[in-house]
Amino acid sequence: MERTYIMIKPDGVQRGLVGEIIKRFEQKGFKLVAMKITMPSKEHMETHYEDLKTKKFFPGLIAYMTSGPVCAMVWEGKGACLEGRKMLGATMPSDSAMGTIRGDYCIEVGRNICHGSDSVESANKEIAHWFPEGVCEWESCEASWIYE
Ligand code: UDP
Ligand code: MG
Repeated sequence: MERTYIMIKPDGVQRGLVGEIIKRFEQKGFKLVAMKITMPSKEHMETHYEDLKTKKFFPGLIAYMTSGPVCAMVWEGKGACLEGRKMLGATMPSDSAMGTIRGDYCIEVGRNICHGSDSVESANKEIAHWFPEGVCEWESCEASWIYE
């Protein structure tokens, strides 16, 4: 089954949105297979965002992302990467539809409260980076009510 890496950014944690974001993924039908609150190092975050290192906003992004704890999670389910991105909304909160996480809870791109893997390939890389210890495999009793 597909997995995606979802991370509540420091602003989402500070603003008390952890429960709200988890609730949305749970209620959609995805399964939580890993989660931790962690204060990442600058090097760890630079590796996470290494594709963006030439961007002008990169130093600000790293400062923002290391300004407090993040909630790192892995969610599992059919189409988890694409569906997770739909649930997050667009990168720019102003382009995000109401009803999405970014559309509902934030205003600026540099404080957009959550991260979600943009592909299965990115997800596999990000999950290995944030959870080298692996994830928890478990059977959900809801599975036959979510999948036909
Ligand atoms: N970002 C920013 N300014 C920009 C574009 C992106 O501060 O003009 C930040 C924003 O927090 C975004 C993150 O960099 O979530 C990663 O950018 P990406 O293009 O990968 O967007 P995402 O995948 O998070 O939607
Ligand atoms: Mg991205």
